[in-house]
Amino acid sequence: MLLKETKDKLLPTLKTYFGYDSFRDQQEQIVESVLTKNDNLVIMPTGGGKSICFQLPALLFNGLTLVISPLIALMKDQVDGLKANGILADFYNSSQEKFEQDEIFDKIYSKELKMLYVAPESLSFLQNILNETYISCIAIDEAHCISSWGHDFRPSYQQLGFLKNTLPNTPIIALTATADKATRADIIEQLNIPKATQFIASFDRKNIELEVRPANDRISQIIKFIEKQPKESGIIYCLSRKGTEQIANKLKQQGIKAAAYHAGLNFAERTKTQEDFIYDKTQVVCATIAFGMGIDKSNVRWVIHYNMPKNIEGYYQEIGRCGRDGLKANALLFHSYSDVIQLRKFMNGASNEEVQVAKLERIKQFSEATTCRRKILLSYFGELLAENCGNCDVCKNPPQLFNGTIIAQKALSVITRLKESEAIGTVIDVLRGAQNATILDKGYDKLKSHGVGKEISWRDWQQYIIQLINQGYCEIAFHKNNALHLTDFSKKVLFENEVVNLTKPIEYKEQPVVEKTTKTKKPKKDSLFERLRNLRQEIALAENIPAYLVFNDATLK
Ligand code: ADP
Ligand code: MG
Ligand code: ZN
Repeated sequence: MLLKETKDKLLPTLKTYFGYDSFRDQQEQIVESVLTKNDNLVIMPTGGGKSICFQLPALLFNGLTLVISPLIALMKDQVDGLKANGILADFYNSSQEKFEQDEIFDKIYSKELKMLYVAPESLSFLQNILNETYISCIAIDEAHCISSWGHDFRPSYQQLGFLKNTLPNTPIIALTATADKATRADIIEQLNIPKATQFIASFDRKNIELEVRPANDRISQIIKFIEKQPKESGIIYCLSRKGTEQIANKLKQQGIKAAAYHAGLNFAERTKTQEDFIYDKTQVVCATIAFGMGIDKSNVRWVIHYNMPKNIEGYYQEIGRCGRDGLKANALLFHSYSDVIQLRKFMNGASNEEVQVAKLERIKQFSEATTCRRKILLSYFGELLAENCGNCDVCKNPPQLFNGTIIAQKALSVITRLKESEAIGTVIDVLRGAQNATILDKGYDKLKSHGVGKEISWRDWQQYIIQLINQGYCEIAFHKNNALHLTDFSKKVLFENEVVNLTKPIEYKEQPVVEKTTKTKKPKKDSLFERLRNLRQEIALAENIPAYLVFNDATLK
C-alpha cells in the first residue's frame, strides 16, 4: 500500500514537473505500483505515455533511478527535455568524451541526480554505484530487446538479468511498446522478475485505416495516394538506404516536399530532416526503420510501407506513428514476394534465424489475409476483437464467407490431441491421415483424430489453419519450434459452439519457372544438412509456401 502522504503528491508532481493535469489510462496505477516497490512489466503502444511511469516515481524516490535505454542517439534529447522541466537527470554512454563521463561521476558521487540514462553496455562502468541504498528503481525501456524471440534483439540487453540478483529489493519496471506473448514471458524470465505485475494496454488504434495492396508500380500508386491529401504529412518506410533516396527523389520530381532519412546520413542532416518534418516544412520522409523512434509528431496522417516489414511487431510500431492525435489516419502496406525473399536472405545465419523466419512468415500471412486485418494484429498481441473493425480493406470489401466451424473444430481438436507440441505441417499430416515416418514413429496414426480431415487437401488445410491463426483461434509458438498452440478463444470453438467463418482457399496459380543462370555448384562433402536446407528453400520458393512447411525440422535433424 502506498502511503497517503505519497499518494497526495502524485498529481501535484505531475503538474509541476510535466505540466499535465491528469494521468492517462493506467499511468497512475503503474506509478503507484512502482512506488510500492513492485516489479512491473508495462506494454503500452508507442506514444501511450510510458515515460511518466518511471519518471514520476523517480522524483518521489530518495535515491537514483537508473534508466536503461538502447537508443544512445535519443538519450541526449530525452535528458534535455527532463532538464528543461527542472529535473535532475543525465546520461552516460560510450558516445561521450572522457571529461563528460567524469562530470557524470561527480554528479553521481555528490548524489545530485534523480535519473540517469545508461546504455546497457555501459553498465559495467557503473558497478560501484550499484547498491541498494543509492539505487531506488531501475527502468528498462524498450525491454523487448532482451529477447531473441522479440523483433529487435540486442545482445547487450541479455546481461541485464544480473540487476535483480545484485539489487534484489530495488523495483524493476520493464517497458515496451511491442511484445507478443512469448516475448513477454521471456522478458520476465530473463530479468528475474517472476512476480512482476503486468500492465497491458489495449493495442487497438481504431482511427488508423489498414490497407494492403500488391506491389505493382508502387511509385505511381504512392503519388496518387499523396495527391488525395496533398497537405498531410506521412512517412514511407523502405528497406534500404538507397531506396529511401530514390523514392524521395522521385517524389521531389513530382513537386512533393520529400526527404530521405537513414542511419548513413550525418547527425546534422538527420536532425534537419527530423525538424523540417516536425515543423511541416517537409511533407514526406522516406526512411529506413531508424526513423520515428523519438519523433513526437501527433499529426502524421499516414504511413506507407514501400517494402514488406520483417515482422508484425515492427509493422505495428511503425504504423503507430500516424494518427497519434486520434483523428483519421491511413496505413498502406505494399505486399511483395521479392521483398519477402530479400528479407529471408538477410536472416541467414542469424542466431535466432528460426524465430525471425517464422515471424516473417506471419507478416506474409497477414498481408495475404482474407479476414479483418485489425483482428489479426490484435490477436497477435493476445487481444480478441469481438466484431470486425470496419476500417480495413478486408472489412470494406469482404470476401465470401462460409460456416467453417466443423473445419475449425477438427483442426483444434487435432492440436489438442498432439498436446500442442507440433508445427503446422505435422498437424495437417495428422488431419489428413498421413502415414509418413514422423507420424508412425510418434504413434500419431493411433490417435482417434488421425485422418478426420482426409477430405480436404493439404494446401487447403494450410490456408484454413492460417485463417484460424489470423482470427486468433490458435497461434504459432515461435519459441517452441513453431508448435501450434491453443488460445483462450479455442475453447469457444471446441466447447461453446462458436461459429467460425472462413473463406474459400485461394486456388494456386502455376508458378513461373525459376530460371537457373548459374550452374549448380558441387555440394560440399560434409553439408548434407545444408543441402537439405537449400532444397527446402528451393521447393518453398518455387511452391510459394513457407520453407518450414516443406519438411518439418524433425526430418532435417
Ligand atoms: P511512449 O514512451 O509510450 O512512446 P511517451 O512517454 O514518450 O510515450 O509519451 C508520449 C506523449 O504523450 C508525450 O508527448 C507525452 O508528453 C504525452 N503524455 C504522456 N503522459 C501524458 C499525460 N498524463 N497527459 C498528457 N500528455 C501525456
Ligand atoms: Mg518511450
Ligand atoms: Zn477490419
